[in-house]
Amino acid sequence: MTARALPSTGLLPAAAPAAGAAPAPGAVPGSSVLPASGLLRRVRAESSVPPRPLGDDELVDRFGRRAVDLRVSLTERCNLRCTYCMPAEGLPVIPTDALMTAAEIERLVRLGADHLGVRKVRFTGGEPLLRADLVDVIARCAALGVELSLTTNAIGLASRAADLRAAGLERVNVSLDTVDPDVFATVTRRPFLARVLDGIAAAADAGLGVKVNAVLLRGVNDHLAPELLAWCLERGHELRFIEQMPLDPGHAWDGTSMVTAAETRELLSAEYVLTPDTAPRDGAPAERFRVVSRATGQDLGTVGIIASVTESFCADCTRTRLTAEGHVRSCLFSDEEADLLGPMRAGASDAEVLDAWRLAMWAKPRDHGDDQDGMVHPARGMSAIGG
Ligand code: SAM
Ligand code: SF4
Repeated sequence: MTARALPSTGLLPAAAPAAGAAPAPGAVPGSSVLPASGLLRRVRAESSVPPRPLGDDELVDRFGRRAVDLRVSLTERCNLRCTYCMPAEGLPVIPTDALMTAAEIERLVRLGADHLGVRKVRFTGGEPLLRADLVDVIARCAALGVELSLTTNAIGLASRAADLRAAGLERVNVSLDTVDPDVFATVTRRPFLARVLDGIAAAADAGLGVKVNAVLLRGVNDHLAPELLAWCLERGHELRFIEQMPLDPGHAWDGTSMVTAAETRELLSAEYVLTPDTAPRDGAPAERFRVVSRATGQDLGTVGIIASVTESFCADCTRTRLTAEGHVRSCLFSDEEADLLGPMRAGASDAEVLDAWRLAMWAKPRDHGDDQDGMVHPARGMSAIGG
């Protein structure tokens, strides 16, 4: 059975917490943390699919999807305040002792790699460079046979890129919504563009692969999309535009400032001819295009466009997440999380942790709408989930 693609972009209220759900340390009201067995009971009640057999060696869900791509959040804190991600005043800070330590992250990544088919790990947040032990986290996980990358705003990367590369990091995905300093300060509420650009340059110098992620906001930075693409193409960094999703904790998203994938193609077509790349996507969220200059006819490289809202790719999703507090979050848009860190700290064996993780994955919703037609606005924002 495969998940169907979700055409609707209607907004549904966040799912109510399941009865009996225990509050998570630092959890935002509205999200629910269930022991994995609680998730399974809900799945059995809702689904005619037989219960998941235990002991399999992969992270599969009841719709036949396999998660091989793990996002691990290292902190929910951040030194920017991007308007689409965090409120101006920031978010309540989760106590440090409620966050996974480097050793706990290493244990979970090892279990994922050795027993659950995890092949790629991307560290994220919040801003992962705020973790003082980031090099240690990377070094521990580099020995585990998985591809390691980092999603970052690049502030502070200039002084750490070489150490991160030496520790085993392969790639960085840097958020950069514009190269105009004033517009950057408007989007991020901080005047730090120069530090981001220094970080990107240092990452490339250190031999790290560099991709750039950008969110376009109508009337703010959308008119600068061709300029940003030119900047990235000149430096050989692949740029990916991501549709703005309802993942701001203030719940201000109503779709009006979102620039759709179709509109992004239109904006870029003023200066470039975009031709769909025919290589298979293999579960990758970005649709890739070859970019040819209208002025010179020169093939300049590629660009990716991620239609996370208007053209759902849930049916092919290969991702799962761990929040910074060690909760499995198998879908960005589902408020349900399963706690792995609590049982680990209470002495759970590897086999028990693996079973809990597999059960949480089995409960992954079919799509954005948590099995309904529409798109939920989850209680936790992107910075707290781990984007
Ligand atoms: N701080 C790091 C950074 O900005 O790259 C890592 C965490 S951030 C939450 C990860 C990614 O999520 C960034 O590329 C950011 O642009 C994206 N993001 C955050 N909020 C979003 C939203 N509401 N819609 C779409 N993308 C969003
Ligand atoms: Fe921070 Fe990244 Fe969110 Fe911007 S997108 S506020 S840099 S976590």
